[in-house]
Amino acid sequence: MTETTETGIEVYAYRHAPWYLLTRRQLRRLGLSPGKGRQEIAAEIRWRRGLRVAYLFDVGRAERVRPMTKAQARALDAAMRARRTCAGCRVVQDYCIPTSRGMCVPCFTGETVVDDDTPPPW
Ligand SMILES: [Zn+2]
Repeated sequence: MTETTETGIEVYAYRHAPWYLLTRRQLRRLGLSPGKGRQEIAAEIRWRRGLRVAYLFDVGRAERVRPMTKAQARALDAAMRARRTCAGCRVVQDYCIPTSRGMCVPCFTGETVVDDDTPPPW
C-alpha cells in the first residue's frame, strides 16, 4: 500500500502521512528540530507526480530547541500520544509504535482496517 524509495524510505501521498511525522517547518512550529544528531528522514511526501517532495521527521525523536509555550506543549503531547496510538485498534500504547508498521503487534499480525485520514487535533 505504502510505497518506498530506492533507499527504503516510506513515501506518502500529499496529506496521507501519519501526522506524528512532521516536516521541518511543522516541527519548528512546535519549538522542535529534527535533532543535532541529524535524525534520518523518516518518510517522504510526494505530490505532483513526484515533482514535489517534502521530508518528514519522527516527532518521537525530535529535540526541543527553545522553551515551549503551553499551546506548543499541548500539541506535542497530542503528537506523542498519536505516536503511541495503534492505527489499528486505536489503543494508546506505552511505547512508540514502529513507523514501519504503524500498529501494535496484535493488530499487525491480525487483519485490521487502517484509517489514515484522522486529522490532527490542533
Ligand atoms: Zn492495535
